[in-house]
Amino acid sequence: MARLQLPNPPPSSPAVRSVMQANRARDTQPERRLRHALRAAGMPGYRLNWKGAIGRPDISYPGRRIAIFVHGCYWHHCPRCYRNLPKSNPEFWARKFELNHERDARKRRQLEDRGWKVFEFWECDVRDRLAESVAAVALTRASDPVDDANQARTRERAPARTAGSARSTS
Ligand SMILES: [Zn+2]
Repeated sequence: MARLQLPNPPPSSPAVRSVMQANRARDTQPERRLRHALRAAGMPGYRLNWKGAIGRPDISYPGRRIAIFVHGCYWHHCPRCYRNLPKSNPEFWARKFELNHERDARKRRQLEDRGWKVFEFWECDVRDRLAESVAAVALTRASDPVDDANQARTRERAPARTAGSARSTS
């Protein structure tokens, strides 16, 4: 997948630097917290960044086709936590956040086209609304009684290569 990633500008102050360093992409503290809560709620058996699913979701249950993304509030510009653009380089950040949102939406669409249920949580959801977030996943899981082990063995079958190629980008 083409990665529309802009390099980051140098941090404008030590405070900004520490925010940026605290917001790493993989295996973040909110992800670990969510995984712990999923296990505690009787939902072990997830995969991390599973290659078989589009966009390598942070957490997934391949058998039940449940994909979970945990978005960093800073990098994905959570509307609850960051109402305004950063003061320094606002045009750059506006574009970067727009690209991140587009990428998130594209992954979601592609997964849903293939029958996946997609959850996108903000890290502040995990921090402030953990029980509700886990309950939403549990509800979906319970409503779709697929044999996990059996399904996981068959993995993702090659999808029909018809949809998507003719998508208009305008
Ligand atoms: Zn947030």
